[in-house]
Amino acid sequence: MLDLWLMVVMFLYAIEIPLSYYPTPVRFSIDWYAVRIIGFFSSSLVLIVMLYEITTLYGRLLGAVRGRRQEREARMVTGEAVAATIAHEVKQPLSGMITSADAGLRFLNRPLPDLEEAEAAFKQIVAGGHRAAAVVDGIRTIFKTEGRKRASLDLNDLIRETLALMRGDLAKHRIRVEALMDERLPQVVGDRVQLQQVLVILMTNAMESMIAIDGSRVLCVASHMDDDGHVGVSVADTGTGIGPEDTDRIFNPLFTTKSDGMGMGLSICRSIVEAHDGRLWAAPNMPRGAIFHFSSTRSVSA
Ligand code: ADP
Repeated sequence: MLDLWLMVVMFLYAIEIPLSYYPTPVRFSIDWYAVRIIGFFSSSLVLIVMLYEITTLYGRLLGAVRGRRQEREARMVTGEAVAATIAHEVKQPLSGMITSADAGLRFLNRPLPDLEEAEAAFKQIVAGGHRAAAVVDGIRTIFKTEGRKRASLDLNDLIRETLALMRGDLAKHRIRVEALMDERLPQVVGDRVQLQQVLVILMTNAMESMIAIDGSRVLCVASHMDDDGHVGVSVADTGTGIGPEDTDRIFNPLFTTKSDGMGMGLSICRSIVEAHDGRLWAAPNMPRGAIFHFSSTRSVSA
């Protein structure tokens, strides 16, 4: 660029020199003004161009540095989100396994050991271990769009299975469960482990919000089908509910209002549901609490 403009300046000089000396222009004549103007441009042009070039260069450099910084921050947030997801997802089956192990030990340590109950507890530990392994496998697929194990499944069965899984915790906190299943529900296509994760996270959140307040504790899980053939599930609680200022933020990664929360649960749920071409949203429950709905657009005939 600079070479080009230097050539332009040299060209102007080449015009200026003969104009100024052959013949010498009369003062304040048109020739005289022309020589002055050409002289002014030839002497300042390179300077102006250089200033312009340097300013745009610094501007671009600043943009690149900012871009690099944003990219690094985004990568850090993703790393944090992955770490928080692993911790969040593995915590639930692990705490279930610890509870079952404690129960098993208590059954064995009785003066007259209850072997049947102990065996049931150990079976639950084995099931919990398998679930934790499946969850770890599933974590990778949450962050990528391919490789999910899609199969046709019955959402009502999945809800029953998940409620059975959480029965111990729900009973411990005196939470009454209402299951309103639409038995005409068609099969849906999806990843069983991931959809169960959504249910576990929504039910755990519902449970935690109900534990936080006194009063009747009712968890209502319902499945339904709308006129367009879309299958939906709702998880309703009678807990604290969601403040209007938080409604949009609760699905953001790392947003939490709990002292020991990680803020990953709902963002994981949303990415799983959206990967199933569905939608997940929250609404207030009456007279209090929150309802989380998710819908799936993929259904196959039973
Ligand atoms: P975490 O449970 O670790 O806080 P989540 O992403 O699962 O992360 O939830 C984010 C926030 O959404 C919670 O901290 C809570 O404030 C709110 N929330 C989620 N579920 C419910 C619910 N059923 N009732 C009231 N608030 C809820």
